[in-house]
Amino acid sequence: MARIKGSARHRAQAGSDDAPATGGRIRKGTVRRIVPYALSYPWSMALLLLSTVVDAVVTASGPLVLKKVIDDGILPGRTATVVWLCLAVTGLALVEGCAMYVQAWCSGRIGEGVVYDLRNKVFAHIQRQSMAFFTRTQTGALVSRLNTDVVGARQAVAGLLSQSLSVVLSIGLVLAAMFYLSWQVTLAALVMIPFFLLPVRLIARRLQRITRRRMELDADMSTLMSERFNVAGAMLTKLYGRAENESGMFARKAAQVRETAVSAVVHGRILGVIGTVLTAITAALVYGVGGVLTIHGSLELGTLVALVALLMRLYSPIDQLSGMQASAMMALVSFDRVFEILDLRPNVSERSDARDLAELRSARNTGDAPSVTFERVSFRYPNGDQDSLASLGHPAARRPERSEEAWTLRDLSFDAPAGRLTALVGPSGAGKTTITQLLPRLYDPTEGAVRIDGHDVRELTLQSLRDTIGVVTQDAHLFHDTLRANLEYARPGASEQELIEACEAALIWDTVRALPDGLDTVVGDRGYRLSGGEKQRIALARLLLKAPPVVILDEATAHLDSEAEAAIQRALRTALAGRTSLVIAHRLSTIREAHQILVVEAGRISERGTHEELLAAGGLYADLYKTQFAKHDPLEKAVFSPDPR
Ligand code: ATP
Repeated sequence: MARIKGSARHRAQAGSDDAPATGGRIRKGTVRRIVPYALSYPWSMALLLLSTVVDAVVTASGPLVLKKVIDDGILPGRTATVVWLCLAVTGLALVEGCAMYVQAWCSGRIGEGVVYDLRNKVFAHIQRQSMAFFTRTQTGALVSRLNTDVVGARQAVAGLLSQSLSVVLSIGLVLAAMFYLSWQVTLAALVMIPFFLLPVRLIARRLQRITRRRMELDADMSTLMSERFNVAGAMLTKLYGRAENESGMFARKAAQVRETAVSAVVHGRILGVIGTVLTAITAALVYGVGGVLTIHGSLELGTLVALVALLMRLYSPIDQLSGMQASAMMALVSFDRVFEILDLRPNVSERSDARDLAELRSARNTGDAPSVTFERVSFRYPNGDQDSLASLGHPAARRPERSEEAWTLRDLSFDAPAGRLTALVGPSGAGKTTITQLLPRLYDPTEGAVRIDGHDVRELTLQSLRDTIGVVTQDAHLFHDTLRANLEYARPGASEQELIEACEAALIWDTVRALPDGLDTVVGDRGYRLSGGEKQRIALARLLLKAPPVVILDEATAHLDSEAEAAIQRALRTALAGRTSLVIAHRLSTIREAHQILVVEAGRISERGTHEELLAAGGLYADLYKTQFAKHDPLEKAVFSPDPR
């Protein structure tokens, strides 16, 4: 009875000492790092420990009462004693039931509380990672850590801190009671314990490896699903007719998961089987030694029965220990994987003495828009291993250390004057997007400095810096939510009127109004139900709501019909008016309006000036003008005479 209860309970809760863990693949200090999480629930923890002590005491005292029933009640024929003692047994059972209930409640509260804390911490920590982390990390693997691993980690807390105490107490108290009743029988019972503990340790270590492998495979499967089931992935699969290959790949991964899961179950069961066999052998030993002692009159019958009952209660916690080892190994691996994420240091972070840009500017009474300066900036993209976990990224993303030639930007300096438009033009891959990413600190320059109103961006708080800058990329991203929610992302709590005005200024209001639910229309995954031009205008409306003094814009290269093109152009003019703007320009009309044009070529600025100056210079800009800008502008194409050469 007691054994069954123990087994059932160890399935419900789990924990362990950490000895095998530290000897295996779990990193040092993992267990120490878990403790503060559990201690953040002191009352639940105190109640849990108290109920654990009560449970252990009741467990050990039950058989002693049983001995009294037999030796002092049944054998001498005292009915009243039997009745009273039976009532005492009932009372003890009730107390034990209550203690077990409190234990379950407390460990539930602590475990779920830890899951809550860890989830929030991991989510916030991931958000603080630099762009380099996200470009190299597989989303599915990340989601898997947030879901599976965090939940797996729950078991370690309630288990490690309460179950280990429960087991140690139970074993101690039961052994004391057994020695008190008969030291000979107790020694006979203990003979088998080493045979039990040895395989437990070996199998627990093996389980730890299996669990880590299983979690990695689970993460692989999540990655595959999240990549293939998003709109772009699903479209690619269909267009290339790869559905069967994808299913095959999935089946192979699922089969690996199945094999490791079976292996985990089998190893878990081996422990149970060993426990059952050894318990039976030990019971035979106790019956043998105890029976002989009873026949020779040196042991009372009630004492023998009590010893057997205690034996069951001794092996119950030891058996529990085996289950706990298995579960705790899994939980520790989970914790370890979660800590791996929490240990990632973002390579773009805020200094402790960072200043608020808005405060600095208002103190100096600076005008509306700040100036932007790039001062001898060189940059290369961080290496794959620097800021991402190998297990989170695709192995191919791990790049070897790159040579000098790998500089994306080299010794680049320019001033973008306050309130003026600076256009960036240049061939594909020249580094234009990279330049714009250094300003809001999506990356930091490897050498040199980026300044905003004279302040190095690294000296500013990230929040104040990003509040100052508004970015609209070519592939404007919309969350799978209503248009209203997407717009309010820029200014939470914006009034209906403000939303409408922003849409009107971005020349998208007529389109939005015509939608079945207006602003409350849900835009699909990545805003798929809107056309490219519409999405960009929504993104412009979002930018207008934010009203940042600095604007970064990557003009859409996609060919739009002339009406949409004209609409975007007018919307842009509103968005950029009076703001310091850095625009990766593809349209002549934008370039013409630019205060200065920077021609980026292989990570350097090769030419700079106004449209007329650069055309007259007859360099790369003049070539680009003939081959690209004039083409993108149907009107200009007609006006511009083809290259006479
Ligand atoms: P386009 O006009 O085609 O958008 P661009 O001038 O904006 O090109 P960038 O996107 O800045 O060029 O890219 C400059 C170089 O940096 C390219 O060689 C590109 O391969 C490389 N690059 C861009 N993003 C990354 C990244 N996350 N990690 C490593 N290298 C990158």
